[in-house]
Amino acid sequence: MKEEFWFKEYHHKGFYISFKKDKILKELKSKYQKIEVFYNEFWGNVLILDGLVMITEKDEFFYHEAIAHPPLFVSENPKKVLIIGGGDGGTLREVLKHNVESVDLVEIDEEVIKASEEFFPKIAAYFNDKRANIITEDGIEFLKKTDKKYDVIIVDSSEPFGPSSVLFTRKFYSLMKDSINDYGVISAQLGSYLFHKNFISEFFKDVKDLFKDSYLYTGITPTYPGGLWTYGIFSKKNSIKDSVWENNIQTKYYNELIFKGSLMSEI
Ligand code: SAM
Repeated sequence: MKEEFWFKEYHHKGFYISFKKDKILKELKSKYQKIEVFYNEFWGNVLILDGLVMITEKDEFFYHEAIAHPPLFVSENPKKVLIIGGGDGGTLREVLKHNVESVDLVEIDEEVIKASEEFFPKIAAYFNDKRANIITEDGIEFLKKTDKKYDVIIVDSSEPFGPSSVLFTRKFYSLMKDSINDYGVISAQLGSYLFHKNFISEFFKDVKDLFKDSYLYTGITPTYPGGLWTYGIFSKKNSIKDSVWENNIQTKYYNELIFKGSLMSEI
């Protein structure tokens, strides 16, 4: 019988998510994290960082639409966008659907960009867009040095450990606040509604007072633990609830009703 290989992602002593590795495509240890790519006959190619699912070809749009479109609609006519993380290119793809002038993408690990371009060509398809500027650096170090002001900042990081841990601090959010314009808006992925509730609740309480208007919101993410993902949205001036979504932006799933229907002031 042919030997089978399975990827297992543990979330609780009695629960894990498992994918059969129908074909192992890449395994390496970069300067920052363990990077794995394998093919699963249902989900397509799957990207794993430090043992956690980042994207699958089949369901990545649920997450990338949810993290990208809300801050772009809450901000007024955004032109300058910053993505922190996002090395798989999915968030960049969604941002470029809007009439923006420039998108700086600050990704700490160029090996993630390389693996995404090689194995996820439909997701990592916009790194060479003339409006995209790819920077390989730690997001917090970038913000400490830059004097640029953005209309939108999107924190598309991995989980709050390893290289992403600095992106889940009040210091980082203070730096982001100083790096957005008066009508600027920030979104960030914060974790699983079910498995990371306490962390999200405490972290949101710690940073929300830095902004005039702050909410949590959710969207379904089939291959992330618990199937429902939580994001934070933070606005310097604009009302998040009163934002109006133009209907000329094509999405497969996320929309204004899902966004506004999921807004929470606490979790
Ligand atoms: N959708 C995924 C999730 O919710 O976990 C996130 C995907 S994206 C691949 C996460 C990216 O953040 C990774 O490529 C990782 O290398 C990058 N990253 C982690 N820490 C970072 C930091 N301090 N500065 C910039 N990028 C960072």
